[in-house]
Amino acid sequence: MERRILLIEDEPGLVLTLTDRLVREGYAVESATDGDTGLARASSGAFDLIILDLMLPRRSGLDVCRQLRQSGVETPILMLTARSQVVDKVVGLQLGGDDYLTKPFDMMELLARVEALLRRAARGPVTSGAVYSFGPVRVDFKSAEVTRDGQPVVLSAREFQLLRYLIENRGRVVSREELLKDVWGYHALPSTRTVDVHMAWLRQKLEANPKHPEFILTLRGLGYKFAG
Ligand code: CA
Repeated sequence: MERRILLIEDEPGLVLTLTDRLVREGYAVESATDGDTGLARASSGAFDLIILDLMLPRRSGLDVCRQLRQSGVETPILMLTARSQVVDKVVGLQLGGDDYLTKPFDMMELLARVEALLRRAARGPVTSGAVYSFGPVRVDFKSAEVTRDGQPVVLSAREFQLLRYLIENRGRVVSREELLKDVWGYHALPSTRTVDVHMAWLRQKLEANPKHPEFILTLRGLGYKFAG
């Protein structure tokens, strides 16, 4: 079945390039060039994925995202942010965005993120709108809030995405390469060492004894497994 993408973006050049490329990949693409029109189209719920620029005329991308989630539209949202909008990424994920890309981005990376989001949606939203608990840790996917023993744990946007990915794939071994591809994006980083560093940070924040983790397990030579 043809998958439908709504592109909400006001830069004409980018709309052309993206539409052209996505259509060549086999997607059906519609576009809106301001926030109001984008919100109206997206509210139909007729799309499999929304690509949403955050800086838009008439209504900001963050507002579009918030309104959609408030009205119960669960379509996956890939947000496009400018390099200067670091704070907006975290806010955007808290408002219900599913992933973000910083402009300028590589087209292959965008396609990889689109594929990953559509795959995740096809598996069923195990985590969207839900609260997931393991041990003393509680993860609220709607508000992107994490607590441990009732105390708030501050995760970066990337750490939160990584945790969500682990939970969605719990009980299964995920390789560093898979994590790089699905959480960071296609050839975004030179080294799988980055995955290890982020895993170490997550353990520091979530595990009682990070040296002997209970939940985020390392499988030598294979990757990681979430056992929560
Ligand atoms: Ca813009």
